[in-house]
Amino acid sequence: MAGFTVAIVGRPNVGKSTLFNRLLEQRRAIVDDQSGVTRDRQYGIADWNGKSFNVIDTGGFVTNSDDVFEREIRKQAKVAMDEANVLIFMVDVSTGITDLDTDVANLLRRTSKPVYLVVNKVDNAQRQLEANEFYSLGFENTFFLSSMSGSGTGELLDAVVSHITDDMEDPSLEADVPKIAIIGQPNVGKSSLLNALVGADRNIVSDIAGTTRDTIHTRYNMYQKDFILIDTAGIRRKQKVNEDLEFYSVIRAIKAVDEADVVMLLLDAEKGITAQDLSIFSLAARKGKGVVVLVNKWDLVEKSTNTARDYEKELKGRLAPFSDVPIIFTSVIEKQRIFKAIEAALDVYENRLRRVQTARLNEVMLKAIEAYHPPVVRGVPIRIKYVTQLPTHTPAFAFFCNLPDDVKAPYRNYLENQLRSNFNFSGVPVKIFFRKK
Ligand code: GDP
Ligand code: GDP
Repeated sequence: MAGFTVAIVGRPNVGKSTLFNRLLEQRRAIVDDQSGVTRDRQYGIADWNGKSFNVIDTGGFVTNSDDVFEREIRKQAKVAMDEANVLIFMVDVSTGITDLDTDVANLLRRTSKPVYLVVNKVDNAQRQLEANEFYSLGFENTFFLSSMSGSGTGELLDAVVSHITDDMEDPSLEADVPKIAIIGQPNVGKSSLLNALVGADRNIVSDIAGTTRDTIHTRYNMYQKDFILIDTAGIRRKQKVNEDLEFYSVIRAIKAVDEADVVMLLLDAEKGITAQDLSIFSLAARKGKGVVVLVNKWDLVEKSTNTARDYEKELKGRLAPFSDVPIIFTSVIEKQRIFKAIEAALDVYENRLRRVQTARLNEVMLKAIEAYHPPVVRGVPIRIKYVTQLPTHTPAFAFFCNLPDDVKAPYRNYLENQLRSNFNFSGVPVKIFFRKK
């Protein structure tokens, strides 16, 4: 499904990250580090009434340098207006309307996209009265919330997800063609990679012009393979104004991940993997996308016998627990292993489609279970009788057993490792469920 994105904008301390955390399916700890930039509060996936969407906390992208502060918030709001499907504009009843609130309100009034004004910290009846002041900002959709207690969030979410309709499913004609998104920090070599591919190949089928798309899809036919590359780099160049805005590239990356089957994550070999790379990596995994990691600019690394092996080991440590991922050392500039990278991505695409026959699955997995039994819980042995692969888009397996709630992470990991070592799921997140038989 094409990504549906909700952005929370507003000045600092109104409670954006409090709401953000509330909306996420998994609450994440916010680490209040010295710099004031907390990585994990930037984006996540929320679910409401069976509909899922991306939530972006624009506050997570604002750095605390006073001179550029107000300008930055305005910039975030502008990007959110361009990129998000729905905007939540948050204000704080305890401070009343500030000049910056009025500024942002004036900006947001220009968009045709739905804007929900959320008056936060409406914790009690007194504040309910005070909150009425904010109607003067003139937003049709106004909600009073207490993000801390959660009161009012249900109504807000109902309103937000009413914009997610079934026909948002991307009705693309090339449904069976593998889609590979090229993602990575600025300057890792994304454009160079695309240019190298264009240079090597005269058979680009078409630039698929997207009317509603914000990413560029280009269809290739090379090495006897048909595939689509989703490019976020080129677009960044088109919109020079926002070129160095981290928020802008992140929101584009999230969209590209949503549209892709496989994410090709480029790293700069000299810099290594960054926190932002890891966030995108785990987002891709949680969305069930395939992943290939390219360690680019490998030409710049001084090498001895074990350099690649050691590098890979260290990198896999960072990617854990999902470390069964192809890692390719490339030099786009020297055209080294570019074909291999594309091949790896297409292999991952195939792995993601893999369906293991039930008989074969049971033969292998029951043997593995026999070799290493699940633990005994309260004197009762857990018995797994039967395994089946579920008919889902990305590989998922159900293990039928007597005490499904009592199988814990270590044994789950054992089963996943067994699946991975017996069937090739390299680069693919695998889901495992335990069900009552
Ligand atoms: P952000 O900078 O906009 O992301 O704001 P935060 O989420 O970090 O919140 C700023 C402060 O407001 C924190 O101390 C929160 O605990 C507090 N806060 C957030 N929501 C509420 C609320 O609904 N009621 C009250 N009383 N305080 C809140
Ligand atoms: P993007 O921002 O990710 O699209 O990165 P670019 O493709 O614009 O590349 C940024 C810079 O890195 C350019 O100067 C490239 O020439 C350089 N570059 C890209 N790939 C490689 C590589 O494999 N090796 C080296 N040494 N430089 C590279």
